[in-house]
Amino acid sequence: MSGIVPVVVVHGGAGDVPRAKRPVHAEGCKRAAEAAREVLLETGRALDAVIEAVVRLEADPLFNAGTGACLTSDGTLELDASVMEGGGLTFGAVASLPPFAHPIRIAEAVRADGRHACYAGAGAARFATEQGFEPADPEALVTEAARERLAKVKAGRADAGWAGSTVGAVACDARGRVAAATSTGGTVGKRPGRVGDTPIAGAGTWADDDAGACSATGIGEHIMRTCLSKSACDLLRAGVPAQEAADAAIAAFGRRIEGRGGIVVVGPDGQAGLSRNTATMSWALARAGEGTEFGF
Ligand code: ASP
Repeated sequence: MSGIVPVVVVHGGAGDVPRAKRPVHAEGCKRAAEAAREVLLETGRALDAVIEAVVRLEADPLFNAGTGACLTSDGTLELDASVMEGGGLTFGAVASLPPFAHPIRIAEAVRADGRHACYAGAGAARFATEQGFEPADPEALVTEAARERLAKVKAGRADAGWAGSTVGAVACDARGRVAAATSTGGTVGKRPGRVGDTPIAGAGTWADDDAGACSATGIGEHIMRTCLSKSACDLLRAGVPAQEAADAAIAAFGRRIEGRGGIVVVGPDGQAGLSRNTATMSWALARAGEGTEFGF
């Protein structure tokens, strides 16, 4: 027995979700974390658990990933996703991917294939179809809420940019293996071709069995400049307890460049933490043999 209690921590994006909607966002995270915990206990692999969590959240139109993803200034979908496992530091990502229902599954195919670590745009779509993924009808992924948000931004009734509700997960299995996964539509009204932190190793996603795993959310232009996920994991590597590491990484991110966002982290000992400097970040934590904690 390793003594490590397997755990999954999920986030549903840093931002400022209106008060009335906060409980439903937290419930969505709870469902995803519980489904991921089942997978974690079935297969015993942290990697399988984070993918399951993100697949569930990509299918939930409430969140800014897969179905429900936010739109570019052209009204199109350009999806970013990545996954990393901490044993071999293997990583897979897609950036500016045209509509596919589950970008995280394609990122995982990139990781498993191993030839390259990240594919973008038309090349990412080509890789996906070669791997047997079916492109999605954009109409099936674009929600009324996403259209309304873009219209508001274009009419100057909302700030351009941050959509919130990006999704991500970290997990630690009974063998102390960690993994992280993140998926997003990016920011509302982004210029076509804009790539955020989500598909960048060390920025949106990081996992190393010698340190821990992290999934980040917030303003991608801030997160990528501070390698936020890697920074949090470096603190874990130095022996800082998980919650303190999460708080310290977010504090430094805010202090150094006025970065705005949040993270979930897990260490290879199964200790977990989460932190944000935004009004909300929905989340859920599901540990083997315990009740699920969730909030926003
Ligand atoms: N980090 C994502 C991006 O900039 C957005 C978010 O987390 O809400 O693409």
